[in-house]
Amino acid sequence: SKRVLEALSTHRHPPRVPVHLASHRYDVMIGPDLIARAGAHIAPVIPQKRAIVITDERVAALHLPRLMQGLAETGITARAFVIRGGEESKSLAVYAELINDILAHGIERHTTIIGFGGGVVGDLAGFIAATALRGVPFVQIPTTLLSQVDSSVGGKTGVNATSGKNLIGAFYQPQIVLADTSALSTLPHRERVAGYAEIVKAGLIDGPDLFGWCETHGAAVLAGDPAAQAEGVRRACAFKARVVQADEREQAAQGGRALLNLGHSFAHALEAWFGYDGRLLHGEAVSIGLHLATSLSVRLGFCEEHTLTRLDAHLRQNGMPAGLDWFGEPLSAGTLVSNMARDKKMRDGQLALVLIRRIGDCFTTRDVPMTTVFEFLQDEGC
Ligand code: NAD
Ligand code: MG
Repeated sequence: SKRVLEALSTHRHPPRVPVHLASHRYDVMIGPDLIARAGAHIAPVIPQKRAIVITDERVAALHLPRLMQGLAETGITARAFVIRGGEESKSLAVYAELINDILAHGIERHTTIIGFGGGVVGDLAGFIAATALRGVPFVQIPTTLLSQVDSSVGGKTGVNATSGKNLIGAFYQPQIVLADTSALSTLPHRERVAGYAEIVKAGLIDGPDLFGWCETHGAAVLAGDPAAQAEGVRRACAFKARVVQADEREQAAQGGRALLNLGHSFAHALEAWFGYDGRLLHGEAVSIGLHLATSLSVRLGFCEEHTLTRLDAHLRQNGMPAGLDWFGEPLSAGTLVSNMARDKKMRDGQLALVLIRRIGDCFTTRDVPMTTVFEFLQDEGC
């Protein structure tokens, strides 16, 4: 039938989202079974048939044999380095140990580093690729929904510092990104929700077309429907590629890449409260942050109430965190505001916030006083 033919053709010619940057261009390939055929996709864009795969224990157990076989089939010699999973691995200590192991194993300027896992592995592997021998080729094979829709596109790499998340790093672009949607079948539901929150964020920034798509297909994405997931990844990557192409290093005075932080000032403050131990996932914090940023926009008179109602309905209908009530315990508004004040985007003591006028119309501001945010958080249930 037509559908089978379409499925077959997607299989042979998976959708590609091109990312065109001033100095470099690469493709994000999206579709099923890309891992099993990784060698065929990667070989044309790397300079030497040697690779180092960086992955975590969970992804290694579930998916590494298929990747190693897919590489070997095209004659790519690869050695895998497996780290422990979790945010704690995005540290200078793990970076130092891993890069020393890799250098001791022996790599050349043309050896490719492959990041195979979620955002933790991708950010760490990218930073190793950026710094080993002052830069070796890099390939991203993201395996979580969050890393497929967000972290694998755009070239931000790095590790966390004692004083905060992502404070050490580099912009470093991959040769290619393989977003294998079949890998998502083993992802726990909670991780799917967390990744989907970044698609909702993209919809709020991009406009009614993407946000409306979320309202129609979000439930299918969250249920793990492969076609809906692939389409969500494609749309979110296309959106992020557009934003990054226009403002690669987040230097635009207004708008640009900074808009991707919608909900994130609140999210980072919540994550700092819970301490990155898995009790609150980044995407869960983002989901609450989207509600808070929109609710603050309404309170300040920038945004109409019905936008907030529409967002909250979508989040709650899909069982996503949509407010501070999700915690079932009161948080301190004072602590959250001081967490927000430690953001690396602070300038001259002013918070950098992304607010929303309507779906598809967000803006950055440094004009909201911390006392206003403090009172707002108290009214939100702190
Ligand atoms: P993660 O990498 O910690 O992965 C989450 C969990 O899922 C881990 O336990 C991992 O082992 C497991 N996992 C991965 N793939 C799986 C699969 N296919 N099946 C089953 N389990 C699987 O977390 P994440 O949410 O992917 O990424 C979060 C990180 O990404 C954060 O450190 C964040 O700062 C970073 N990030 C970076 C950017 C960027 O632009 N570079 C953007 C957004 C987020
Ligand atoms: Mg994010």
